[in-house]
Order: sequence, then C-alpha cells, then structure tokens
Amino acid sequence: MRISMISEHASPLAALGGVDAGGQNVHVAALSEALAKRGHHVTVYTRRDATELPARVRVGSRFDVVHVDAGPPCHVPKDELLPFMGELADGVSRDWSQRPPDVVHGHFWMSGLAALDAARRPGTGYRVPVIQTFHALGTVKRRHQGAEDTSPQERRWLEPGVGRSADRIIATCSDEVFELKAMGINTGKISIAPCGVDLNFFSSEGAVAARTRSHRILSVGRLVPRKGVDLVIRALPHLREGGFDDVELLIVGGGGDSGVLDADPEVRRLMDLAADLGVADQVRLQGQVSRSEMPGLFRSADAVVCAPWYEPFGIVPLEAMACGVPVVAAAVGGLRDTVVDRGTGLHVPPRDPEAIASALAMLLGDPALRTELGNAGTVRARTRYSWDRVAAETEKAYQLAAAGAPAGVVPMEGAAL
Ligand code: UDP
Repeated sequence: MRISMISEHASPLAALGGVDAGGQNVHVAALSEALAKRGHHVTVYTRRDATELPARVRVGSRFDVVHVDAGPPCHVPKDELLPFMGELADGVSRDWSQRPPDVVHGHFWMSGLAALDAARRPGTGYRVPVIQTFHALGTVKRRHQGAEDTSPQERRWLEPGVGRSADRIIATCSDEVFELKAMGINTGKISIAPCGVDLNFFSSEGAVAARTRSHRILSVGRLVPRKGVDLVIRALPHLREGGFDDVELLIVGGGGDSGVLDADPEVRRLMDLAADLGVADQVRLQGQVSRSEMPGLFRSADAVVCAPWYEPFGIVPLEAMACGVPVVAAAVGGLRDTVVDRGTGLHVPPRDPEAIASALAMLLGDPALRTELGNAGTVRARTRYSWDRVAAETEKAYQLAAAGAPAGVVPMEGAAL
C-alpha cells in the first residue's frame, strides 16, 4: 500500500521530552518504520517548524518525511496550530498531485482535519480513505483540565466531526472506545491497535546507568501538570515515614521546547514543592534525555512511576516493562490495558500520593516481587506490543477503510465536515 500519515505538530524526527514532543512522535516514527518493513511505502507529512529543515527527508528505503510550509517556520504551540491546517492540507494535496496514496492516516484531531480536507477535495478526481488516530481527546482533556485546557474552542465540534467523517478510527485502548462512543461516534468503524515498543532497543539486557542511592524511582515524560510528577514528589515523605529514606527520584523530561531546565516553569514548581516537603535532596531533574540513553536509565530503576491524571495511552510504561522494570501506574486510560495490576506492576488510584507511596514501599521492600513483576512485564511487552504486531493491526484497519470507501472517483462538495 501507499500510505500517507499526517502528524501536524509531532514530527517523527523531533527530539523528545519537550512540552509538545512525546508519545505521538514515537508512535508515528515507529509505526511508519514497521509498516515500511512490511513492504508498504509511507510518507509522513508534518509542519515545517524550522527554516533549515529540508523539504523531504528519506528515513528509510520506503519511509519519507515531508516538511510542509504551514504557518511560521518556527515552533508554534500545538494549541495555536488550527489556523494553519488548510495550508498543511494544500501541501499534502500538492504532493499527491502525481499520484494519491491508497490511504491517509491522521494523527491528532487537527491532522484529521487536514487529512479529510486533502482526501476529499472537489475537483481532484480522487477520494482517499481516511483513518484517524486521536492520541488524545478534547472531551477527556476538558474533563480533567477544565479552565487550564488551552485547546481552541473549535475543538469541541471539529474533533467529533473528524470522528464522524473519517472512514475508520483507530483507538489505542479500550477506554478510548467508550469515550468515542460518548462523542457520538459509530463504534462499528473503530479498530483497536495499541501503541508499541521497540523491543530490540528496550530490553532487560544491556548497560545500566549508575545510581548513587540504594533505591531509584524513575519518572519519564513531558513535564506537564497532567503527568502528575508532583504526586510522585508528594509520595516521598510518606516513603520516608515508611523507612525508605535512601531513595532517589529521577525525573526525565522537561525543559520546555528550548530544552533548558531553568526556563521551564513546571521545573520550578516541582523543585519548590520538593523543597517545601523537605525532599529536594532526593529529587533529581535530568531534563530531556536522548532515546539512546533511555533503556539504561529504565534498567537502573527499582520502579517506574506513571501517575497521570489521565492518559490516552502512555508509551513509557511499555518501555519500562520491556526493560524488566515494574510499573506503579495510576489506573487510568491506556495504563489499565498495558500494566497488569499485581502482574507487571501495581495500580494506584489517580491523584493519590499515599497510594503511590504504599505501592512503592511494597516494591522497594521486596526484591523478589520486583523481579517477578519485571520479568512478567518483559514477557507481556514482547508478546503483545511489538511494533510489527501493531503495524499488522493497523494494516487491517487500512484494508477495512480502503474496502469501505466508495469505488471510483467521488469528488465531495465543499469541506468534508
Ligand atoms: N522521552 C524521551 N526523552 C525524554 C522524555 C521522554 O525519549 O526526555 C520519550 C519516552 O521514552 C516515550 C515518549 O517520550 O517514548 C513519551 O511517550 P508517552 O506516550 O509516555 O507520553 P506522551 O508524551 O505521549 O504524553
């Protein structure tokens, strides 16, 4: 198949750990690579966010990234990108003018808009089947973030519109299917395909980063409040009370888009909190860490904590499991599918530092349990979450969408929504 992916803000070539660069970048890169390995030709369209980027980058023999001029050629926060989706669709459809793809896959709601626009332009002579992965839903974000949600107002109606108009939706976890249903989307056109993990790279064997204290707890991800890193800091005094004081909390990620830690207000908030709680000496902020260093860091931890308020999927727990490390996970969203309570980690209620501390105390005090859960995590990651398996599931969704699309030339009237 010839597959186009659109990932407006999340380039598969970007550095990770900044405010807007995380799981979606990993997902689009790894899925594209896995599909290319299966013999498909994949082109990812993303917004040009720096002047020096070449128009087209050949990532592999069947995998290209195209930087489309859409809005200013510099970083723009993703919640301000909506006005540029028309230009993005223009660039995509220009690239398709010789030969449109067999399917187009939108990642995040705004890419879905651009995908529908490019796929169903009147007068082009083609109608490309559209598959959509939301990665995150505005309804869920609003529920948890309320007034803090900086998404544009239009997301309220445009996102469900993308869901209704797309030929097929890929949900990354079962929880998302319920949310999509609640948005009024026909569940008959939803396929589930989770995110995957690079198992050659994230494994229990290999170098282990050095550590300075008896125990290390690891938190990895973009430093945004909803990731709940403050809750892990709040768990430290409870752990101390429980007798675990020689514990280091290593926090990976953050530093905003500049990558400079001091420039990140969330870093200051977390360090102030640690100081107020008297645990500043136990908290180490590492900032953004390159992919190559991640497996060694995971392996150096006794436990990885993922304590988000909500989580559309969450690739970090999979990476931890693949590296043989037990995960303390808030029982929300995708984490309920990936982390098996008392199987590959421990579930805790969301926003509950005491529960996080109890779960950590259980793990830190019991090396045999850590080994058992860690080993089970490796097996689970290997058997269920290889990118090849995820690509095979995604391929099925593409085939369904391609088969369901009306045959022949169907130019649509006006905008697709
Ligand atoms: N990550 C990284 N370096 C960092 C911070 C994060 O490589 O400094 C990676 C992390 O290993 C994972 C991804 O960014 O692959 C975060 O994905 P996840 O789905 O957990 O969170 P999201 O950012 O999508 O909310």
